[in-house]
Amino acid sequence: MTDHISTEHRSWNMSRIKGRDTSPEKRVRSMLHRMGYRFRLQRSDLPGKPDLVLPKYRTAVFVHGCFWHRHPGCKYATTPKSNTHYWHDKFTKNVARDTRNQAELRAKGWRVTVVWECELRDMESLAERLKKVLSAHELTYQTEDLTAEIAAEKHGEYAGYAYHAKKQ
Ligand SMILES: [Zn+2]
Repeated sequence: MTDHISTEHRSWNMSRIKGRDTSPEKRVRSMLHRMGYRFRLQRSDLPGKPDLVLPKYRTAVFVHGCFWHRHPGCKYATTPKSNTHYWHDKFTKNVARDTRNQAELRAKGWRVTVVWECELRDMESLAERLKKVLSAHELTYQTEDLTAEIAAEKHGEYAGYAYHAKKQ
């Protein structure tokens, strides 16, 4: 697999490894933690296994690599020069899967935010952006939803409950 990765992507990986021995997911988690947000890790019962979820904001966060998940317009979303068809097919599938997972999450009443790996190069801006996103989510989050959700969580049927309850 490594052989197929573009030199650009490889050097990006290398710089990450040299710079910090921490995965992008962990860096986003510790940042949000420092900002005082409460979250849960990889809810495997949710579509696409979000990297973390913030129940209070009913927000699922994905931390996506720009190369594999095709960050639009990003310089790290390169396409290797060889095996172009293979890569094109792979990327199309990845993007389709992401789109489908996000649509399913939204259908369950979750809001979805993607953190692109290149955003981690400027943690301050990322922190600002997430703060804005989450405060907007909080504003649209109805108190009745939260109450229903807390009740549902106690009964272990947390995901999707508030959304369905509201629709009826
Ligand atoms: Zn990017």
